[in-house]
Amino acid sequence: MDKYELQKLRDLPIEGVAERLGFQVKMHKCLCPFHDDHHASLSFKVSKNTYRCFVCGESGGPIDLVMKYLRKDFREACRWLADENNIILTEYKPEEDRPPKPFDASRYERFFERPWLNDEARKFLFEERHLDPRVVRWCRLTSWKDKQGVPWLQTPYYDREGKLIGVQNRNLVKGATPRFRFPQGAECRIYNLPVLNLLKPGETLFITEGCSDCWAMLSAGHKAIAIPSATLLKHKDAELLRELTSELQITIGMYPDNDTPGERLFLQLKDVLPNLIHYQLPLGNKDFSDYYVSMKRKEGDHG
Ligand SMILES: [Zn+2]
Repeated sequence: MDKYELQKLRDLPIEGVAERLGFQVKMHKCLCPFHDDHHASLSFKVSKNTYRCFVCGESGGPIDLVMKYLRKDFREACRWLADENNIILTEYKPEEDRPPKPFDASRYERFFERPWLNDEARKFLFEERHLDPRVVRWCRLTSWKDKQGVPWLQTPYYDREGKLIGVQNRNLVKGATPRFRFPQGAECRIYNLPVLNLLKPGETLFITEGCSDCWAMLSAGHKAIAIPSATLLKHKDAELLRELTSELQITIGMYPDNDTPGERLFLQLKDVLPNLIHYQLPLGNKDFSDYYVSMKRKEGDHG
């Protein structure tokens, strides 16, 4: 209950509240319920929205009247008044009625203006995944350590116009949980939307599952976006992708993971994007990152 709601209750006309409680109000007066009254000793002051009994001295505003007459505590009296007058108190409102807190981009924007990679992040991105530093810079990946000294990789999500709409934090300690953390209101659904501005008609846009595969795809010279891993696309996002393919005259491709869930995701996507093209990973590679790393290792061996 906030102060505005409380004020609403305090502003309820005192005589109306008295009538709702069953008193018969005449000429701003009624029988006092707080003593054995036969002369309408309780009077109302409309200008101050209060009541007072000249005999027993009881006095107060609408909330006091309900508390005293119905023998309720403050909170109960407020609830009663709110119910009687169709006022919805914050404490009552079901979750879905309350607007979700929007993502506060201003809190995070500065982290991505000067991305900084700690040792753990450099190891993760360059030693383990062999990602192209230009891709890492373009994606503005940065890192930080929390109070416990846990290193996190921080990935910004932008919309097509380059506005920051979400942040994904990835725990860089192997096997640690939770692996991902998102600030409140972060919209981390389709990753790398700004790449759409670079597409030329006829080009292929790849869809990957998760950011890691997307970075590998970009490092391999493809244009790619990512959808959250193992999650089906939201209807709104599928709609967006459908519109884009026709608007930009591009084709959409996917290297499904080399397992049953991977193929299932492909079929689910193909349902909403009928033109989705299936690319086959060579046997022995579980996902595109895996494939990309094995290619890089081979290059290293020959170079
Ligand atoms: Zn009285």
